[in-house]
Amino acid sequence: MNISDLFKKKKALYSFEIFPPKPTADISAVTSTVQKLAALGPDYISVTCSAGGTGNARTAEIAKLVKSCGVEPLAHVTCVNSSKSDISRTLTELADNRISNILALRGDRVEGAKPSDDFRYASDLVSFIRQWSGGFDIGGACYPEGHPDCPDLLTDIRNLKKKVDAGVTHLNTQLFFDNEDFFRFQDMIALAGIDVPVQAGIMPLVKKAHVDRIISLSGAKIPAKISRMIARFYDKPDALMEAGIAYAVSQIVDLLSAGVRGIHLYVMNNAYVAERITESISHILNEVNG
Ligand code: FAD
Repeated sequence: MNISDLFKKKKALYSFEIFPPKPTADISAVTSTVQKLAALGPDYISVTCSAGGTGNARTAEIAKLVKSCGVEPLAHVTCVNSSKSDISRTLTELADNRISNILALRGDRVEGAKPSDDFRYASDLVSFIRQWSGGFDIGGACYPEGHPDCPDLLTDIRNLKKKVDAGVTHLNTQLFFDNEDFFRFQDMIALAGIDVPVQAGIMPLVKKAHVDRIISLSGAKIPAKISRMIARFYDKPDALMEAGIAYAVSQIVDLLSAGVRGIHLYVMNNAYVAERITESISHILNEVNG
């Protein structure tokens, strides 16, 4: 089912993001993770692709696996290094496998790779997919604290409006740790005339390696509560796991209480984390969706 139709049926969606295994690895590297995530009954599972789009075939392969487990897949498609014919090939493969939900992304620029002559922004990709005859449902990315390339949040929101006007029917946010940033963003996009549903992206900080990577790469603001948690439990794996899950759950409870249209969990292919979080919020989700 198209994700935009799911938004019409439910007050809040609940979904997971996974990434494909390395090109050389066997699909079995993620099979059991996908099966475990599917058993938790999410509305959909999104599958990332590599920045330059070179992993788009792997994305389709894992999206097929998600579908075979009875869950709707959302295939990420990037365009920063792709031509129209590259994207056409990807769309053909998705359409042939009846994968109808796409998250249309620009992707981060890859050092040394030739930038696309056909696509400058994600909105160009959205327009291209809309003209293509696949009947795809298209989501886009958004950034409650602003995209790092953009000088300010207001300009980024004006650019986001162009992407939505090009044909995006729902949005997924970049991870954030302070819900107030998300609430302010929601108010600002409403004022800008953006009225598509926005799902909040939540990343549980449960492992030392993630903590280092997320803090250096995402540019997300780190609230004092998280700094204290990291300072205290950085080298204590079990305690950090518990504290990271508890923090993510408290963020989710607050967002659902405030009427967010959905939670998208960046679970880093860790089914255990998804299980623990789902167990902690299942009654709340049921209550919200009544
Ligand atoms: P865009 O919407 O094109 O925005 C990029 C920048 O250009 C912004 O600063 C924006 O303000 C500006 N801009 C947009 N339109 C215009 C315009 N018309 N004029 C002037 N400026 C403009 N990366 C991957 O490689 N693979 C993934 O699977 C992946 N999944 C993601 C999932 C989510 C939910 C999110 C939030 C990000 C994901 N990313 C992924 C990262 C993403 O590709 C990068 O953040 C990338 O730098 C921007 O992609 P975008 O689609 O948001 O780009």
